[in-house]
Amino acid sequence: MKLDQQFIDIGATSRDEVIKELGIDIGDPIIFEHSYSPLGKGDLVVSRCFDDKIGTFIIAEVLRKLKGTEFGGSVHAVSTTQEEIGTRGAITSSYSVNPQVGIAYDVTFASDSPDMKESDIGIIKMGGGPVIVRGPNINPILFDLFVNTAKELDMPYQLLAAPRATGTDARSIQMTRSGVATALIGIPNRYMHSMSEVVNLFDVDMIVRLSVAVIQKITKEMSFIPK
Ligand SMILES: [Zn+2]
Repeated sequence: MKLDQQFIDIGATSRDEVIKELGIDIGDPIIFEHSYSPLGKGDLVVSRCFDDKIGTFIIAEVLRKLKGTEFGGSVHAVSTTQEEIGTRGAITSSYSVNPQVGIAYDVTFASDSPDMKESDIGIIKMGGGPVIVRGPNINPILFDLFVNTAKELDMPYQLLAAPRATGTDARSIQMTRSGVATALIGIPNRYMHSMSEVVNLFDVDMIVRLSVAVIQKITKEMSFIPK
């Protein structure tokens, strides 16, 4: 529904009542109320703002699982602001962290619901495992590292082709300073940008496991210059 077709009824009868008595003014943000809950008997869960709170949860889990293990680099986790209006937080945070490798985590459209067409977006299933994105935004060596590691872990995964700049932080991370080897991992998601976004906890778990294994393989000496 278009913004100019929507209104919010808060029960007020005058402008003064809204601004002076209720303290609501032009530009105040609002949210839809919808808390987290399991959906059905399987691994599906529903909440508002899984895009991209689930990405933040994943990187926090990755940090937790990396703690005390061996790996060859230093890992920075960033939860960015304003991704939806031009990946703005990723621009400033990537500049500050100045990484050699960047991995973006964002929800991606699942095709297995009635409002989606496989012929438009490809076949992406809830519970089908991590979505490993490939395309000009993605470093091919890092892409191969993710795919080969998923195979080694005997983990289901899904591929998604993104033939131009993706609508995620990956597009800004890649072009930071003199360039960053960038990967994009998608979390299959139904009803994106609604107050009832759905993700699958099996997918989330697999993405965490895959990311930990990939980070443990990356060394400071590793070259990501495509051959
Ligand atoms: Zn989004």
